[in-house]
Amino acid sequence: MSDTEKVHCLIIGSGPAGYTAAIYAARANMHPVLYQGLQPGGQLTITTEVENYPGYPNGIMGPEMMVEFEQQAQRMGADIRWGLATKVDLSQRPFKVEIDEEKWIEADTVIIATGASAKWLGLESEDRLNGHGVSACAVCDGFFFKNQEVAIVGAGDTACEEAMYLAKLCTNVHMFIRRSEMRASKVMQERVTKTPNIKVYWNTDTLEILGEHKVESVKILNNKTNEESIIPIKAFFVAIGHHPNSDLFKGWLDMDDQGYLITQPGTSKTNIPGVFACGDVQDKNYRQAVTAAGSGCMAALDAERYLGTLE
Ligand code: NDP
Repeated sequence: MSDTEKVHCLIIGSGPAGYTAAIYAARANMHPVLYQGLQPGGQLTITTEVENYPGYPNGIMGPEMMVEFEQQAQRMGADIRWGLATKVDLSQRPFKVEIDEEKWIEADTVIIATGASAKWLGLESEDRLNGHGVSACAVCDGFFFKNQEVAIVGAGDTACEEAMYLAKLCTNVHMFIRRSEMRASKVMQERVTKTPNIKVYWNTDTLEILGEHKVESVKILNNKTNEESIIPIKAFFVAIGHHPNSDLFKGWLDMDDQGYLITQPGTSKTNIPGVFACGDVQDKNYRQAVTAAGSGCMAALDAERYLGTLE
């Protein structure tokens, strides 16, 4: 540990949760240092227009919104840095966090805002058309395809919830399920199958999303009959799960069986006093920019109170 720096408040992650925590922590004179991670700005940097974040009556592009979050945190005095947390030692205070495998930060309090990443099918066309009709968030992007034909892949509770959300907006929702049954809870399955404009395709794999600059159709395969078909659509939603970016904290922090960090209800407190978690890394239910920002505020306030107890 040759190169070590000591800080009051270290924030890991730069989505709405991390930047909001930085804004609050800076205003509370905690001199926060924030490391942005691999994808500065987080998941919003891969969406297009955000219309459901309060305060932007005309909507705003996701990447632009995150630049504004960053600028606001900087203006308040947060020290925003490029860099990735690569190891942690939370055995005692000050907590130790390694950055880019080369330097260590010692922190009195740590706020974890590392987010979650959507899982993707892994198709070339899915990657190429991402943001041009391919999306992993129906609540974020469904509205842009109002009164149009769309498809969704996935068979869990999220896929069912998103299919029903889309069914209220779109003419038809084609739902592709790779097996002959869904993983979702019975009640959600029933709702989906009873919704007249959701058409469920069992034993169906997505082969390719077609379209040069935007989604035009999707090629699917019935894996029982080997029959291929092409369905014209304007958008393709992927809802096959998320994985929380919590690997770094394995063995230190309590997490559920999917890796989401567990916080005490109604707070951002983890099982280690002085270590707080906010945003999607601890939330598998809401996953919205505004809820992540709210929890970032909670984490900064919890951290401030914690630092107060040390004085
Ligand atoms: P899940 O892991 O529960 O479901 C993922 C789904 O995606 C599965 O049906 C899986 O298929 C399918 N899938 C995975 N990979 C592929 C692939 N390559 N091609 C096609 N399909 C694929 O994730 P969710 O996001 O739905 O839910 C996460 C957790 O959050 C769950 O515990 C869920 O219950 C909970 N949740 C609860 C809600 C509520 O109660 N209101 C709302 C949303 C989520 P297969 O089944 O074949 O493996």
